[in-house]
This record gives sequence, C-alpha cells and structure tokens, in this order.
Amino acid sequence: MSGSLLSINGLSIGYSDAQSRSVAVISSVDLSLAAGETLGLVGESGCGKSTLLLAIMGFYKAGLHRLGGDLQFMGEDPGVMPAGDLQKLRGGRMALIPQNAGQSLTPTMKIENQLFEALSLHSDLPSGLWRQRCFSLLDRVQLPDPGELLKRYPHELSGGQQQRIAIAMALAGEPDLLLLDEPTTGLDVTTQVHVLDLLREITAETRTAMIYVSHDIGVISAVCNKIAIMYAGELVELGDKNDLIDNPAHPYTKGLLDSIPRMHQDRLPVSLEGMQPQPGQRNFDNQCVFVERCSYARPVCQQHKPDSSTVSARQVKCHLASEALDWKSVEGSDRINKPTKFSRVVLRVKDLSVSYDRPSLTRWFTGRQPSLVTQGIEFEIRRGEILGLVGESGSGKSTLLKTIAGLQKPFAGSLMLNDQFDLRHSVGSRDADCQQKIQLVFQNPDASLNPSQTVEAILARPIKLYFGSSDEAIRQQVDEILTRVNLPLAYRTRYPGQLSGGEKQRIAIARALVAKPDLILCDEITSALDVSVQASIIKLLLRLRQESQLAILFVSHDLAVVDVLADQVVVLEQGRIRESGPVSRVFSDPDHAYTQSLLASVL
Ligand code: SF4
Repeated sequence: MSGSLLSINGLSIGYSDAQSRSVAVISSVDLSLAAGETLGLVGESGCGKSTLLLAIMGFYKAGLHRLGGDLQFMGEDPGVMPAGDLQKLRGGRMALIPQNAGQSLTPTMKIENQLFEALSLHSDLPSGLWRQRCFSLLDRVQLPDPGELLKRYPHELSGGQQQRIAIAMALAGEPDLLLLDEPTTGLDVTTQVHVLDLLREITAETRTAMIYVSHDIGVISAVCNKIAIMYAGELVELGDKNDLIDNPAHPYTKGLLDSIPRMHQDRLPVSLEGMQPQPGQRNFDNQCVFVERCSYARPVCQQHKPDSSTVSARQVKCHLASEALDWKSVEGSDRINKPTKFSRVVLRVKDLSVSYDRPSLTRWFTGRQPSLVTQGIEFEIRRGEILGLVGESGSGKSTLLKTIAGLQKPFAGSLMLNDQFDLRHSVGSRDADCQQKIQLVFQNPDASLNPSQTVEAILARPIKLYFGSSDEAIRQQVDEILTRVNLPLAYRTRYPGQLSGGEKQRIAIARALVAKPDLILCDEITSALDVSVQASIIKLLLRLRQESQLAILFVSHDLAVVDVLADQVVVLEQGRIRESGPVSRVFSDPDHAYTQSLLASVL
C-alpha cells in the first residue's frame, strides 16, 4: 500500500526439510502499517508471531529463509539490505523492545554506558550532549532521579525499571517503528499499567508506529488500535480493535476471546480443543488451516482453502465469516468443587517471618534485629483448596513460596505439612515422603528443565525417585501425563530447546504432577502461557484438585486468573498480609486500599 510505513504482501517464510521440500512457518501474510498506527499481533505460541517480527527487522533464525512475497519498510526491504545499513536500521529507524529486559541489558555495564552506546550507534548527537540526552530519555520513560539511576547496573533495578530502561534505549534512535515482544509479561499489574500508559503516550505524541506481540488480548487492547490474529502461520483476522473484540468474525478469534479469564465471572474460561499444527504438519493447500479445531466447520472447509475477504471492515480468512458474526460465544462450565471447612489442613503457616540477613556475631552482641522480608504471615490451605497469593514484585510472594519449599530458612514462626512434617527444615533435611508431598512449579521453565534431557527423561526422574516404578510403568505414566497436559506423545523424545515456551511450562507442570503431591506450589506458572493453554491449565488444576483433593498455593500477578481459579486469596504488600479471605469476597468488596489499587489495575 502506498504511503505505508510498513508494507508486507504475500510473505511466506520457512525452511527446507530433509527431502529438500519447503515447509512454511508463516504463509501468505499481508499487512500494512502507517505512521502512528499501533497493531497488536496475537496468537498461540508457535503461530509465527516472533518469526514475523524478526523478519520485519531483516532477521531470520538459523535454517529459515523467505519462501516468497515482499516486505518493505520505508520503501526498502530489510531482508536484502547490506549488513552496515541493517545495523543502522535496527535500533535506529526501527527498534525492538524484548520480553525480558533484564536479560537484554548487559549485566556488566552501567545504565549510562548502555545508553551512551545506543546513542553512539543510532544518533548524530555529539558525545558532549549524550548525558543530557540520557536525562531527557529517562524523564521520557518517567524514571525519577536519573543522575543516580545512570550509575546503576541492571541488577540494581526492579523489573519495571529495567523495562523502562529498555524502552529508553529503544527511543534513543528516535525510531519510526517500535517492535514489542511481550514487553510487560512478568511485570506486576500496577507496573504493567504504567508501562502501557507510557507506550500509549509515546506513540500518541511522536506518531511512532508500533507492532505489539502478545498472547494477552487485554494488554493489546490497552495500547493498540488494530489487532491481527495469527494462527498456524496465517493471519486469519485483521481489523479495528473494538470491532474485533466486541464481535469477532473468525472462529479462532472467538475461541481465543472465550479462553480469557475475566474478573467476577462464575463460569470457567473455555480452552480451545486440540492443538495448533506444527509447520511440518500443515498440509492445508486445499482446506482451512483451522479446520481440525473448528467447532463450526462444514464440508466446504475441508475442500477449499478460504481466501481473505472483507467482512464488517475486517480482513477474515473463513468461508463462514459473515455468519460467524452472529454466532454466540461458547459457554464455559461452572466452577467446580469447593472444599469445606471440614477438609483436613494440608499447610498451616503461623506467625511466619523470613529474613535474608545471615546470623552474625556483631548482631548477636549488639542485639540488632535482622530486617524481615515477610512478617507475621498466617494462613492455612486445606485438602482440595486453591489459595491465591497476590501482590506486586517485592511483596514477598516468592520468598514465602521458597520458604515453604525449603529453599529459604524462616526466621521465626511455624510451618507444618499435614500437621506431621515440620517445614522449618530446609529441603535437603526433609525426608523423602515430605519432599514428594510438596512439588514446585517455577515461573520460568527454561531455568527449571534440564536442557540436555528428553521430555521422557525429565518426567521419568520423579517417578523413579519417589516410586521406583518399572520402565514399562514409567512409560505408561509419561504417556498419561502428556495427554493430561495436552501435549502429543511424540514429544517424549524432544528436548526442552525444541519446545515453545508454553509447551515447556506444561512439561514443568507435568513433572510436578507425576510425583503425586499433596501440595503444589505454583510460582506465576501461567504468566508465560497462551490464553487457550492457560484456560486448559486452569481447568486441569481444578480437575486435579477435584480428583485427588490436591492443595495448591498459586502465586500470580494476574488477578483474573486468581479470581477464576482460587477459593481463598492472601494479599501481600511489603511482606505483610493486607487482606485475606474468600476470593469472592476480597475481590468484590475489598477492605484494604492496597487491594483496591491492585484491582483498579486489572485490564
Ligand atoms: Fe472454521 Fe470453516 Fe471458517 Fe475454517 S473456514 S474457520 S473451518 S468455519
């Protein structure tokens, strides 16, 4: 399209398989973006969002290449630019803000030097003016006390501050296009709202265009005016944000929207049945790419591939798009099973305080008290109960979780499992029964799964360790758990590096489940998952607690997920409980101002 900042026509990207056949990872994508436009790119893990984003920057992962089509940014194709021009383009006219700013900043360089480097590469400013420009960039991203902040290293900043620094670095080259890859995933809700407000202001004031990749439609709708829905490498719906969210025309968009948990809904989000086909399995030249998961499919959908058509001012790839506008959303099932007050207490926490200070002779002589990270914590979790632990970063959620898991020693107070095991002991000092009964699922499966082991070996280890099962029984249990977490059995032989982020997290959950625990500690386990996978995990956790009366401590910054999943909630701020009680009461009629401010940040 003429006048477009970015214009993509019929773009296909893929790789050559062992038989030298071309396999498409993204297929026939058409997209255009004008200055100041903000586009949200939404879809499940593995749909090709990141491949498209990187291709816009002229980057193709090893083995991938362009199969066809055209991509122009400001009249030039980044895919064929000389290396020098490409380097100027990236971070200059076009800048990427990554998901994990903490990992993208250089840990050994002070913030000032990192910003200086960005300015030296992507601005014409003389070096004498760099410091002044740093001050204005930090002011632009609303970071106070820039003089002090510039002297710090990345690890001395909070997650929200790191993300603002990443935005400041991206703005150093005054880009025309910002590419954002899940930049607020992992931030707590109040920080997320501030970052999104900031992005909105920047794009409105500078007319910087933006492509925002996320699995969270709530986040996308807060900052973008257009949304593109991607499935199995194809754009299946593209249009105005409000139209698309209020009245989706593609069954996949409907499915995604139905799988989002919302506050105060008494029905569960609905997960999309089935799985997105992998690139090598997408033989969809003569049928709709979504046909295997579409509950509205008709014979025509298996005979002809739908072209993109304009329906209600949107581009939609579906034979039945005009009818789909009238289809009602799928009703979720009722929430199931609540434990009674007569259920046995699994975890009892009383007057718990935790400190990271080490015992020292000086403190002993001076009588100086250690500084406490959490203080006076009291709660119980009963059999079959899910307790949500919410609060901003630094509120003490993870510290509590680590203490219960035996990774951190408490300073004072008591913790008991099943009124039998004293959890003040570190994990290494607990007996095997106690270890088996508490399992932990971490936020980041990359850090918790052994990259050199296959999925089968990862899942077999706890089965062998706790139950000494035979090889045949292990194999059967591995198959069973893979099915329960919605992964194909063929994944048995894969390594973590061959899985998407969502798939890795499902393996981490499966590994906890095979130990048949009484209590599972979940640390932000759904924050990196697609909404459809998240809905299936919510359903899975609810089913598990019903079937095996599992107790779950669920730490999350996503209050809607906690609302849908948990029975009780504990609200933490600065290491202290501000409010606790049944989720239905605390989230609908909060007593404490802090709970009210958290709830006000829900998108
Ligand atoms: Fe479903 Fe058919 Fe539309 Fe594909 S073309 S999304 S199978 S209704």
